[in-house]
Amino acid sequence: MATTIQSVRGFGDILPEHTPVWQFVEQRLRATLDAYGYEEIRLPLLEKTELFSRSIGEVTDIVEKEMYTFDDRNGDSLSLRPEGTAGCVRAGIQHGLFHNRQPRLWYAGSMFRHERPQKGRYRQFNQVGVEVFGLPGPDIDAEVILLAARMLRAVGLDDIRLELNTLGTPEARAAYRDALVDYLRGHEAALDEDSRRRLSTNPLRILDTKNPDTRALLDGAPALEDWIDDESRQHFRDLCAILDRAGIAYTVNPQLVRGLDYYGRTVFEWITDQLGAQGTVCAGGRYDGLVEQIGGRPTPAIGFALGVERLVALLEDAGKAPVAAAPDVYLVLAGDAATQEGLVLAEELRSAITGLRVVTHCGGGSFKSQFKRADRLGARLAVVMGENEVARNEVAIKDLHGDGDQLTVTRADLPRELRERLETGRES
Ligand code: ATP
Ligand code: MG
Repeated sequence: MATTIQSVRGFGDILPEHTPVWQFVEQRLRATLDAYGYEEIRLPLLEKTELFSRSIGEVTDIVEKEMYTFDDRNGDSLSLRPEGTAGCVRAGIQHGLFHNRQPRLWYAGSMFRHERPQKGRYRQFNQVGVEVFGLPGPDIDAEVILLAARMLRAVGLDDIRLELNTLGTPEARAAYRDALVDYLRGHEAALDEDSRRRLSTNPLRILDTKNPDTRALLDGAPALEDWIDDESRQHFRDLCAILDRAGIAYTVNPQLVRGLDYYGRTVFEWITDQLGAQGTVCAGGRYDGLVEQIGGRPTPAIGFALGVERLVALLEDAGKAPVAAAPDVYLVLAGDAATQEGLVLAEELRSAITGLRVVTHCGGGSFKSQFKRADRLGARLAVVMGENEVARNEVAIKDLHGDGDQLTVTRADLPRELRERLETGRES
């Protein structure tokens, strides 16, 4: 036998046992986005590498060490998308979506990052994201946060905490950055290696560190909140007022900075304690400078992305994951005539009863083995057709969840009989 081939590390299969919860989550998220009038955009998985280095930032973890980057056959450097915002902005500029319009967009799909795989962290993972362009005020910030909150509620998760912060304008951040660097230079020996490197490349990212010693050091550092400009402060106060009015609970976390370079003013994350270190299920913020940075006209923007694997994990861990619906009818067929006629009968039933789940037995075998398969699938009713039934234009119905009684009906009456039985089954 040839050796077997395994999937690539961090690239998981979602097996049939798990697809019902995925479908549930996707369907609920879409319905919620629809209720806010957001429009779907579908974007390529592959972009020019330059798009990501110019938007996410040359010295971020993603661009430095997590992207799947390769030269294609023409020698162009391409990357699998590590996130959706850059591609969305690129598409908006390319197709003129931002001219005199304020699109509210959403996307869903796989992202790729070469991270260390563990529960809640994969190399191919799925996000549902939202991006809104052309609206500068705290009103849209509030709407986007209300939308994310409703998306989480729509999948049955209502105990996830929301943290908010404001990063101020780029100028305010630059001034704070200098003050932070001054402070940390005085403690350089106590910094972990990553943070020491970031001191000269991307010092704000040090605030994001998970190293406990560096965290302790940061307690004495200058606070970003003291450097925020007045306009950003007012923007943040107005946002908080709307959220308070709408009854959304949140905590202001002055240390929340987000990993990507392009954020400014409002940033937010939904975090749960139930997933260990992979506790952020949704994250986003305002990125007013990004459109211009990648070649468009100045366009304010805000967005977020939800990590679908983490939502699914929360539902599965809580025992709230839906399972696949069992067939309503399993068609048991004996003999050549019935085998032929069975597929035709199944088509008739699907046409007669919308949404009816019919599984036709294929591959022959004894009645006993066919009923065994019907049981294994959890089918509600068996419809049985043998040589005699075909000759008389009849079928037998057997309730697989009941007392096993069998009833013979004509083929013409079958849809009505099935409808009755399935309805009583659903009521009880
Ligand atoms: P983290 O701090 O967990 O690495 P992040 O800040 O890198 O998250 P974002 O780039 O903001 O994440 O992506 C938004 C969401 O996508 C995250 O909150 C998370 O739910 C999900 N996500 C990010 N990276 C992964 C991954 N490697 N595997 C699974 N989900 C992920
Ligand atoms: Mg990350």
